[in-house]
Amino acid sequence: MQLRTPGPTPCPPQALQAMGKQMINHRGKEFGEILNSVTTKLKQVFQTTGDVFLLTSSGTGGLEAAIVNILSPGDRVLAISCGAFGDRFGDIAEQYGAKVKRLNFEWGKPVDPEAVSRVLRANDDIKAVLVTHNETSTGITNDLSKISSVVKEFDKLLLVDAISSLGCIDLPTDNWHCDIVVTGSQKGWMVPPGLAMVSLSEKAWQAHNQARMPRYYWDFTKARDYLQKGQTPWTPAISICYALSSTLDLMLSEGLTNIFARHSRIAQMTRNGIRSLGLSLFSEDSYASNTVTAVSAVGRKGGKNDSTDYPAAEPQIDVAKLAQVLRDEHDVVIATGQGRLAGKIFRIGHLGLVKESDIRTVLEALAKALPKARS
Ligand SMILES: *Cc1c(COP(=O)(O)O)cnc(C)c1O
Repeated sequence: MQLRTPGPTPCPPQALQAMGKQMINHRGKEFGEILNSVTTKLKQVFQTTGDVFLLTSSGTGGLEAAIVNILSPGDRVLAISCGAFGDRFGDIAEQYGAKVKRLNFEWGKPVDPEAVSRVLRANDDIKAVLVTHNETSTGITNDLSKISSVVKEFDKLLLVDAISSLGCIDLPTDNWHCDIVVTGSQKGWMVPPGLAMVSLSEKAWQAHNQARMPRYYWDFTKARDYLQKGQTPWTPAISICYALSSTLDLMLSEGLTNIFARHSRIAQMTRNGIRSLGLSLFSEDSYASNTVTAVSAVGRKGGKNDSTDYPAAEPQIDVAKLAQVLRDEHDVVIATGQGRLAGKIFRIGHLGLVKESDIRTVLEALAKALPKARS
């Protein structure tokens, strides 16, 4: 089967085998060694010398942990969003009592750092900025380096949802002054869902010491104290830790630069293949994501996508039907549109365990399935 959703992603045999190992005492020496080695390897991929914690949850748990550990009720927060996941990060902060100012961009377009700058200049009391590095719902990657420069010019905390980018797209946590970076195991890490990974800067720790949002399971003070003993505060997803240890070895032996180049090459191949099928991409190549490609199911009349590259009289695609034909007749699983993009786009995940031949298979299946899904 070609599982081409932007998470969960396929796991290599090493990870599947590792998960078959017997349970061990999570308060024992053997688990301590695994946890320490996984944490050390994670820091290399995060490109940080700061702290990195493993949390047993999906990625959203990591986002919630970031909020409750850094903020207090009533704190003013700028939530930047250009899609469903950006909205979610802001929702979590709001739910815990932060005063959230929203800065929303059109879905399919990236965040404009200039606009962020204007809002920060006009709102001195904002404490932290929430941003999504790679917006999985629309298939775009934000210019985090530029956004970070702006946020740091105003000396605000920067909390980053990098759930679908870290380990696939370059994100030098320390060089870009990210105070918190969150990711999730089932995306670029090639292991099943079950772990969130979160990094903290020195500045994040200072904010943590003042932060008064309610927290128990997510408390980073507990995470730090237990990690010093080679443990996690609560029983961790031990099997996923085994798997992650094996895929981190794969990742570090491939090398970060090679991983980023592979994702870039495969994303470009996906976009070219989509265009040669006569379809339109949902976003422009200059900010299209290297981990997930969003394809328009409807013509974008008058939009920037209506260049000569695209057939003028573009038929509409029934996305649900397309996904069904791909799955039933070709063993290819794609993702459909989320929220307001339901029925308007479909998405192809190409992160983690992915090579050129996987995309060729998907494109060949699409060529055969599309005539059955024209509406
Ligand atoms: C997948 C994803 C999430 C949500 O992660 P879960 O593991 O489903 O909780 C959040 N943000 C982004 C950018 C994602 O890609």
